[in-house]
Amino acid sequence: MKALVAVKRVIDYNVKVRVKADNSGVDLSNTKMSINPFCEIAVEEAVRLKEAGVVDEVIVASIGPKEAQEQIRAALALGADRGILVQTDDKAYPLQVAKILKGIAEQEGTDLILLGKQAIDDDNNQTGQMLAALMGIGQGTFASEVKVEGDKVNVTREIDGGLQTVALPLPAVITTDLRLNEPRYAKLPNIMKAKKKPLDEKTPADFGVDMASKQEIVKVTPPAERSAGVKVGSVDELIDKLKNEAKVL
Ligand code: AMP
Repeated sequence: MKALVAVKRVIDYNVKVRVKADNSGVDLSNTKMSINPFCEIAVEEAVRLKEAGVVDEVIVASIGPKEAQEQIRAALALGADRGILVQTDDKAYPLQVAKILKGIAEQEGTDLILLGKQAIDDDNNQTGQMLAALMGIGQGTFASEVKVEGDKVNVTREIDGGLQTVALPLPAVITTDLRLNEPRYAKLPNIMKAKKKPLDEKTPADFGVDMASKQEIVKVTPPAERSAGVKVGSVDELIDKLKNEAKVL
């Protein structure tokens, strides 16, 4: 059985995001980029399934600029077998990404298709759902447990008020939640080995996908700065400030 894992190159979650002066987007220059954390969980899950003998091959795919090779190599160092970079300098919106992933999944004949539940840059939480719909297959989103049993997969989902388990015939789309697993750290020998693993380069046109979007980002603004706090000398002063400055009493 083959597993396909979609990994997105995003700003590292530890980095403070800088918005461009003209509010057209986020400034990515000299910024540390990483695998989207939920995608890393998806890679880890696929690698664990391979280690358990359930999956034979783990393919990672990323749609993005040439530099997204770094995130594919990072996933290969975690244990994936080969990578596919679908190179584009256009912004990759969920629908276009889902169409490309459909093309890869069909070409490769993958039974398990794992994605993060959301990318932490645009917070769309759409790609997995769109992919399942485009392919006409089942989806187990927000997975906290994945168990393959014969020709189906049981996915336990984190929902409001508890856990729900769904059974999906394969092929199926799974999107990962935070508690599914804790990804390993790549060991140095594996980072070296990853440099030699195969990495194919494709373009959106290879999958018949036009990157032009029906959506336009009008404006990006940073969140309002929090003003500094003040120390008050007494309860009376606190009440006075709450009444007359903050005007919340
Ligand atoms: P989103 O719907 O944008 O929040 O992304 C959800 C998941 O879709 C991510 O965690 C990835 O697994 C996948 N995905 C989104 N964009 C890309 C991309 N450009 N390349 C590869 N995978 C992506």
